[in-house]
Amino acid sequence: MTVTELPRTVVPNPSFRKQVEEKSGEKITACYQCEKCTNGCPLAFAMDIVPHKLMRSVHFGLKDEVLNSDTIWICASCETCTTRCPNGIDIAHVMDSLRQISQAEGIKASQPQVPVFHKAFLASMKRFGRVHEGEMAAMYILKTGGLKGLMSMAGMAIDMFKKGKIKILPSRPNKQVRDIFRAAERKGK
Ligand code: SF4
Ligand code: SF4
Repeated sequence: MTVTELPRTVVPNPSFRKQVEEKSGEKITACYQCEKCTNGCPLAFAMDIVPHKLMRSVHFGLKDEVLNSDTIWICASCETCTTRCPNGIDIAHVMDSLRQISQAEGIKASQPQVPVFHKAFLASMKRFGRVHEGEMAAMYILKTGGLKGLMSMAGMAIDMFKKGKIKILPSRPNKQVRDIFRAAERKGK
């Protein structure tokens, strides 16, 4: 006898949808599943839940599936989906909000190197007012590959310094950028 798998029953849970709408300021319920976001997304091929399905999953309140998905970490924030959406939904911003919710709730990222990169990027920007590529890359490699990883990249870094691709000294700290970070931290963003 063959066992037929029954379709999964989904019970919509509006609290997650409301949480995402509040965080992002975007109206998830406006999505009518036209798929234009997915059809334009350059990274849809690598995602486990393609953008229009992710929007539907948020709508249904499938919190665990969404926050543990690869999609939210694979999204490159290129905003192609946002410009294509006929309902004006800023899907890239929704993705960003989902990453923030997942980090705030202590969920381990399915692609752990991505939040490490984001943190190294923001820390460098906060310190110097703009990203110092050498410092940011060193912090990122140190956290993902350890000292061994850092040493293995040393040759390439020296070549890049020699060719002027990476500056040795960072720019001077910028008070306005620091103020922006402080204001965002006060708001808990
Ligand atoms: S393009 Fe907009 S309306 Fe269409 S599926 Fe994507 S989010 Fe929904
Ligand atoms: S912002 Fe993300 S989801 Fe949207 S098109 Fe770009 S990679 Fe795809």
